[in-house]
Amino acid sequence: MRRSASEQQGGERPIVVWFRRDLRVDDNPALIEAVRSGAAVIPLFVVDTKLISALPSDGAAFDLQAGALRELEDMIRRRGGTLLLRHGDGEDVHRSVIRDFQPSALYFNRDYEPSARTRDERIIRLYRTAGIDVRTFKDAVIFEPDEVLTVDGRPYVVFTPFANTWKRLPAPSPRSAPRRIRTPELSGGGVPDARSLGRKTAVSAPIATGGERAARKRWEWFLRNGLANYDRGRDLPAIDGTSRMSPYLRFGTISVRRMVEDVREAIDAGDAAASASARKYLDELIWREFYQAVLYHFPRVTTGNFRQQFDALRWRTNSRYFEAWKEGRTGVPLVDAGMRQLNETGWMHNRMRMVVASFLTKDLLIDWKRGEKYFASKLLDADTAANNGGWQWAASTGVDPKPLRIFNPRLQGERYDPEGDYIRRYVPELEDVPTEFIHAPHEMPGQLQHELRCVIGRRYPAPIVDHASAAAIYRKLFASVKHP
Ligand SMILES: Cc1cc2nc3c(=O)[nH]c(=O)nc-3n(C[C@H](O)[C@H](O)[C@H](O)COP(=O)(O)OP(=O)(O)OC[C@H]3O[C@@H](n4cnc5c(N)ncnc54)[C@H](O)[C@@H]3O)c2cc1C
Repeated sequence: MRRSASEQQGGERPIVVWFRRDLRVDDNPALIEAVRSGAAVIPLFVVDTKLISALPSDGAAFDLQAGALRELEDMIRRRGGTLLLRHGDGEDVHRSVIRDFQPSALYFNRDYEPSARTRDERIIRLYRTAGIDVRTFKDAVIFEPDEVLTVDGRPYVVFTPFANTWKRLPAPSPRSAPRRIRTPELSGGGVPDARSLGRKTAVSAPIATGGERAARKRWEWFLRNGLANYDRGRDLPAIDGTSRMSPYLRFGTISVRRMVEDVREAIDAGDAAASASARKYLDELIWREFYQAVLYHFPRVTTGNFRQQFDALRWRTNSRYFEAWKEGRTGVPLVDAGMRQLNETGWMHNRMRMVVASFLTKDLLIDWKRGEKYFASKLLDADTAANNGGWQWAASTGVDPKPLRIFNPRLQGERYDPEGDYIRRYVPELEDVPTEFIHAPHEMPGQLQHELRCVIGRRYPAPIVDHASAAAIYRKLFASVKHP
């Protein structure tokens, strides 16, 4: 007869710690609490084949996750334990874990996305029906969606008052990784990368690799070199002026409590300018929690407009334009540079995300949901709440109180990439174009185009739409929707 692991361990019933978007040992509440209880721990990661088949096709994020899992395995091994990786349908895997280990409890850190919540409810039921205790913990955010509410207990739908309340609440402190992690005898299982999951990685130069160590290294670099200039550098896509922590935050390879504590220390310690810069950075981390809260309280945003009157808006379905946008071949240099950065690195600068999203919705008049889906398939930091929030902001259908905002890509380029360095990095066809034409190469005299071997319409496309006329059409469309 097969003996369960708990029988093999002399009847001691372990606690299962289910890792999900928290692939680290530092300041991991579920792990720390399980270890603190004194019980043996089963650190579990489920490679949910059913879930994976529904995920976007590009494999870059799977490779990032694989790097994070390998580091997690190593971190656990160094503390005396083993990470248990099991592949299969998520519920079946949990059933097999219950059968094989007869755990006393399941611990995990909460996820606020609608689909994750539905899955988690099913798994909780499974364990509880088997008489197993379940404890869940706050981890991914400083304050959960139900902790930041208006005085009459309602969710905020405007950022500034949300942020003001957020800043007044006492923030939890980070806790150190456990020194030892005692697991029963486990056989680890293989870390799945894109290839083993049958995915191809189209992103050729991913912006982030690895897990907890890589995250910490980048974070320390940013604290030393980036934070004090963040407010000035954050809008210039040609420089390394933002933290690039988003892929690590997505997989939880860094603790947001650790980040906020470090930022608050910088606010207190810096001179007035450095402190203002660090404050600006804190605001961005609060934006992240704001959109988590919006998604939590209004899960309908995943399928439609937050401002429901926009459901009546008739977007265009021009696949030629959509393909040109995806490939970075619209003939609008800044937009093309942004899309190519996304396709090559799996990340795009925030200013550029706003520019390309505005271009798709306001210039090409294409539904933001198509852009959101494309971003989700490519971004290493793809996050339903931030992605949806960003797209609805750009499309003027979201929680932003100033809806009619149309970005002029040429003016954005002149302002934020004045020398065209960013454009030239990602659009090599335009490498030799003089700066005076870099934002509108189609205006170069014919002879110059020939001399530079950059004939517009051949080497690089002419703009697929005229911004002024497209914006005028969008304004009419916008006005045709009833605004309460
Ligand atoms: C159309 C669109 C789609 C987006 N999709 C995503 C997405 O899928 N995942 C994602 O993490 N961010 C998304 N963003 C927000 C933002 O662009 C990225 O968080 C940021 O560019 C990540 O780079 P960074 O880590 O260097 O940011 P930094 O400027 O260094 O900011 C630090 C952190 O703050 C958070 N943050 C910053 N800006 C925002 C914001 N506007 N909304 C929410 N959180 C923010 C992120 O966690 C980020 O890592 C999107 C924005 C737009 C306009």
